Amino acid sequence: MLQELRLTIVVENSALFGNSSVWAQHGLSIFLDLDYGRERMKLLLDTGACTEVMLHNADALHIDLSHLDLICLSHGHYDHTGGLMGVLQRVNGRICIMAHPEIFAPKLKAQPILRFIGPPFSRTQAEAAGAIMLDCRGPAVIAPGVMTTGEVTRLEAFERVSGFWTVKDGQYCEDNIPDDQALAINIEGKGLAVITGCAHAGIINTIKHAQKITGIEELYAVIGGFHLASADEKRIEATADALRKLDPAILRPGHCTGQKAICRLQEALGERCQPLAAGDTIQL
Ligand SMILES: [Zn+2]
Ligand SMILES: [Zn+2]
Repeated sequence: MLQELRLTIVVENSALFGNSSVWAQHGLSIFLDLDYGRERMKLLLDTGACTEVMLHNADALHIDLSHLDLICLSHGHYDHTGGLMGVLQRVNGRICIMAHPEIFAPKLKAQPILRFIGPPFSRTQAEAAGAIMLDCRGPAVIAPGVMTTGEVTRLEAFERVSGFWTVKDGQYCEDNIPDDQALAINIEGKGLAVITGCAHAGIINTIKHAQKITGIEELYAVIGGFHLASADEKRIEATADALRKLDPAILRPGHCTGQKAICRLQEALGERCQPLAAGDTIQL
């Protein structure tokens, strides 16, 4: 049984005030230290946007990447995968990477001009550097009480993905980012913790999907990117309403959530809502 879970925010768009040794960068990486008494699991969710910041911050925060047990990638965008090659250099031997196979599909942004925003390495390069790609579309149990969500069921009409493009079967088309997923963790006696990368699938969709696959209704914590930085009033309002109803004890929005949405969530949930920053540690 999970006795203790400690999260360290390694890479984030802002850095903890007063901690000048940690750098801020548009990206996300969260280190999870899971204590099971006799066993311990060291898990890295995402790797920030580049090797330099990822390794600098890991060192500044005294995180030993050579002893990681598993890396999970929330989706294939560069700001979550960009530091992977640097992390692999530090890892002892080979390491499993839990991710959806479409993280390597063409990831594009079209406005104002077409740009590649996928991982800055190929699958072959990652494998040559020691990655064992697990290519998982569905949910997976990765430790007692800890699951990856796999593809998130899209239920909420207000949480439609837009602005991303890909190429499928020779056609240039909108990317609804099927690879987007999160971690769902059972915090004994408290409820469900959902740890997201960008939550492109929608933060409410992601929470509801995590509740469904774990069978845990009680929501305890939601931590990570909520992808509301470019959302309109209506969507921010609908998200704040839904989160108020879901009633988590801890809400830590960061990365792509955007300042406007964070302020609105703080209004809706009061002191339970605190923005994330690199250098933060969270005990669940
Ligand atoms: Zn993204
Ligand atoms: Zn992102």
